[in-house]
Amino acid sequence: MDSVKVVIKDGNCLGCGACKVVCPSDAINVAFEHRAGKYVASINEELCSDCRLCNSVCPSEPENINYNFINNGPIKKVFMGCASNNQIRHDSSSGGWITQMLINAIEAKIIDGAVVTKMSTNPIQPVSYIAYSRDDLIAASGSCYCTSNIFDCLHGILKDNKKLAFVGLPCQILALKKCQKLIPELNDRISITIGLFCGGSSSIRGLRDIFKFYKIPDDVCLIKYRGSGWPGNLFVKHENGCKSVSYPEYSAMMRRGYFYNRCFICPDATNELADISFGDAWNLVDEPVEGTSLIICRNDMGTDFINLTSDDILKEIIDDSLLRKSQSNLLHFKKKSIIFRLRYSKLYRFLINEEKKNGYQLTFMDILNNLYDAIQIYLINQNVPAFPIMLSNRIRYVIAKKLIK
Ligand SMILES: Cc1cc2nc3c(=O)[nH]c(=O)nc-3n(C[C@H](O)[C@H](O)[C@H](O)COP(=O)(O)OP(=O)(O)OC[C@H]3O[C@@H](n4cnc5c(N)ncnc54)[C@H](O)[C@@H]3O)c2cc1C
Ligand code: SF4
Ligand code: SF4
Ligand code: SF4
Repeated sequence: MDSVKVVIKDGNCLGCGACKVVCPSDAINVAFEHRAGKYVASINEELCSDCRLCNSVCPSEPENINYNFINNGPIKKVFMGCASNNQIRHDSSSGGWITQMLINAIEAKIIDGAVVTKMSTNPIQPVSYIAYSRDDLIAASGSCYCTSNIFDCLHGILKDNKKLAFVGLPCQILALKKCQKLIPELNDRISITIGLFCGGSSSIRGLRDIFKFYKIPDDVCLIKYRGSGWPGNLFVKHENGCKSVSYPEYSAMMRRGYFYNRCFICPDATNELADISFGDAWNLVDEPVEGTSLIICRNDMGTDFINLTSDDILKEIIDDSLLRKSQSNLLHFKKKSIIFRLRYSKLYRFLINEEKKNGYQLTFMDILNNLYDAIQIYLINQNVPAFPIMLSNRIRYVIAKKLIK
């Protein structure tokens, strides 16, 4: 092993910044690379003392990926629910449960604040910060389908005597748990982890290509990936007006060609390490116009937090098979067809052994989908202009929609 240099060189860095938090030599910098459209770490070799603490927390180090594609992690209780405030629900990604729950938790003084993420527009990139008020939390409601340098806002929290919630993607919660092992004081500061399900993140380059396709000018002052009901819209406000595109349409067009490399070998669909995990209640509500959050309490702490902070009725889903029904596409990508992608990855020998293969046979559609993604990644890396990429994804989306009908 050789610091996280190999992760960065192989293009597997997610830019989370966990390595920077633990580096004793201040040798790591995480910056947003405009061309690639993502945060990436870099190492100052002169300062690096080769202690390798960075490797131990990096979510892209193969040894740190907790490979499990048989079940979905510990499950105490599964609920469906939505924010009691209709506006919060309407503006959020799913049911707005996270935003409402954190507002209630701060108002009841259960926590002092929460690490949340929103989009900034000048420049266009995600930013994470600690929200201490209702307004700060509402500003970050809704999903950003990209990853931020989330650990940046944790610098200095050990000096404050605050209790925080941490909202993060599975790879970010994994890195946080690793940091907490190394810096036990972090356990007192982060009192609860709120995880998002994750089907993958796209670079901001994908978003810029969507802007080009829909002729959205660059001078934007507000970006929301989701909101305005369910499944919601991408909403972009710019100097001369605004534009919205439905979530299913643009997400099909942004597709996996823009994904971070690590997303193709990511085995965690439902945020298995968090205290509470949240996703969309896909396929569980008849003809929804407003969203519903799907909520998994992983342990007693998570269940207690939900009980203490909920001001509305939650419907408990007793049957675990409903979770599988709701998330069937996500689970297929993360737990089954991943074998195909890993086979062609250097990480195969680290992560897979015979009994972990789970007897899964790839289908013709798996092979077709993976080949399509591989061609897209190649073309995007060759800097093919946005229009043909977006057009081919759009044709694919229209055909798939017709076939499903
Ligand atoms: C990249 C990504 C992929 C996802 N993939 C799936 C999926 O395949 N299937 C599924 O069912 N659900 C997925 N989700 C989760 C889903 O989109 C909702 O975030 C979740 O259901 C919570 O909705 P809510 O209305 O309860 O939360 P809200 O009240 O809308 O609050 C959302 C919270 O998430 C935080 N957040 C937003 N973006 C990020 C980010 N990039 N990194 C860290 N924190 C963030 C915000 O700060 C906010 O606190 C994904 C989310 C993301 C960000
Ligand atoms: S090996 Fe140690 S000193 Fe070098 S970058 Fe990693 S954490 Fe910093
Ligand atoms: S810890 Fe995060 S920022 Fe650092 S190398 Fe790993 S993925 Fe990149
Ligand atoms: S798919 Fe995995 S690696 Fe990619 S953003 Fe989601 S949790 Fe992180």
